[in-house]
Amino acid sequence: MAEMALNSADAAFVERLRTVLPDVAFTADPAGFLIEPRGRWTGQGVVVSPATTDEVSALLAACFEAAVPVIPYSGGTGLVGGQVLEGGPVPVVLSLARMNSIRAVYPNENVIEVDAGVILQDVQVAATDAGRLFPLSLASQGSARIGGLLATNAGGLNVIRYGNARTQCLGVEVVLADGTIWNGMSRLRKDNTGYDLRDLMIGSEGSLGVITGASLRMMPRPAEEATAMFVVPTPAAAVSLLALAGERLGETISAFELIHRQGFDFLAEVEMDHKRPFAQTPEWSVLMKVGLPKGQSPQEALEALFEAAGGLVLDGVIAQSGQQAQALWDIRETIPEANKRVGSISSHDISVPISCVPDFIEKAPAILAKTGDFRINCFGHLGDGNLHYNVFPPEGRNRAEYVDLRDAIKAAVHDLAHSFGGSVSAEHGIGRLKVQDLETYGDPAKLAMMRAIKDALDPRGIMNPGAVLRAK
Ligand SMILES: Cc1cc2nc3c(=O)[nH]c(=O)nc-3n(C[C@H](O)[C@H](O)[C@H](O)COP(=O)(O)OP(=O)(O)OC[C@H]3O[C@@H](n4cnc5c(N)ncnc54)[C@H](O)[C@@H]3O)c2cc1C
Repeated sequence: MAEMALNSADAAFVERLRTVLPDVAFTADPAGFLIEPRGRWTGQGVVVSPATTDEVSALLAACFEAAVPVIPYSGGTGLVGGQVLEGGPVPVVLSLARMNSIRAVYPNENVIEVDAGVILQDVQVAATDAGRLFPLSLASQGSARIGGLLATNAGGLNVIRYGNARTQCLGVEVVLADGTIWNGMSRLRKDNTGYDLRDLMIGSEGSLGVITGASLRMMPRPAEEATAMFVVPTPAAAVSLLALAGERLGETISAFELIHRQGFDFLAEVEMDHKRPFAQTPEWSVLMKVGLPKGQSPQEALEALFEAAGGLVLDGVIAQSGQQAQALWDIRETIPEANKRVGSISSHDISVPISCVPDFIEKAPAILAKTGDFRINCFGHLGDGNLHYNVFPPEGRNRAEYVDLRDAIKAAVHDLAHSFGGSVSAEHGIGRLKVQDLETYGDPAKLAMMRAIKDALDPRGIMNPGAVLRAK
């Protein structure tokens, strides 16, 4: 495949776009689209917001012809730099914000069809209005949009029961690099007609095309839900508790989160403290949610689990109201913001087989201690073997003093996860941040297949160049 130089979206090109697409909105002040949540990169680009799939198609066809790069942009909450391009030719940043309609709801089929620019929270509300549940749930749900969530195959809190974004999706509508529209908005549960292109697009992070619509799976709402926070003596006890909970409660467990004391301490440090559930902040705790059909009491089920757990649980609180449950979840959901304010040297989104989690948590600090003295906030989705393992400077010190150690810290954490057969990106994706990691830890045959697919679907390399795969 011959290399093709990319061109900038210069004034002449933008003028041409305005002529071809008179109804498309051009954002006069693009600053908000060119930063990312952790403030690590500042992008560049001409922000264009089409309102229809046909406009996306015309926009991509024009970019393809002129070899101008395109960065699909949904909520801008991605944590791996996939939505911002810092250097190189000036791209078109294609915002999905104006494509924000719920297209159709089929309650009897448990299906909802949406534009890719609909915000996750709005899909949740639409599902609730239809008496159903759209179970994808993450702290960024007030901003993240369906296109971005599918493009990154987002995870979040309820994966243990409902799976990640991929599992919630029955079909997608995608515009390819040259403007071709693929209508894959299927509501079918079964369809074995060739390659699964939906699953190819999910998790492709804008490197193969733009997702413009999605047909999503809704679920019955559990009639009764309850939340508990249990103090566990060790991560190993937390894993045993997960197994015990699985035996007793099966698939009714919709979240199982591990929290280390450091998370509570950071909340206090940045003055975001919540009412603490225990007089003494536990070293390790588990936050879990259970949802049961009508007539069964999830509170009673959690109490019975507490009784059966013996030494696996040292103490516990079971929320007696929705308000109390929310107060517990507020703790968990504000920890990422507290982390951001404290400022990590290096953050990691790793997964290992669930039974290896205790070993990982025991070994990692000892390995990191060879590099320096750090504070570690380890928390995350234990039910999925997914830990957010974030490394911070000692109290009173600034992360800027530690930038030279960042690569060594990252390599130590990722090498350890890899040694357990784990992943260096459990749910955030590759973006631009982890391209090198994918090359280091990825299977060479997989990388070769990915490159072949990219070259076939995006022969000019305009789609999100440098994200997922290195730009040629
Ligand atoms: C506070 C906070 C908490 C978070 N918690 C979680 C969590 O628990 N689990 C989790 O998985 N993630 C989490 N994230 C990360 C982030 O919210 C997810 O990655 C989310 O899926 C990104 O969606 P978005 O709409 O913001 O996408 P964007 O940030 O706009 O884009 C992300 C990537 O997808 C591409 N893209 C965007 N739209 C499209 C499209 N329509 N077609 C093709 N490609 C597209 C972009 O080019 C980019 O590469 C969190 C982020 C924050 C800030």
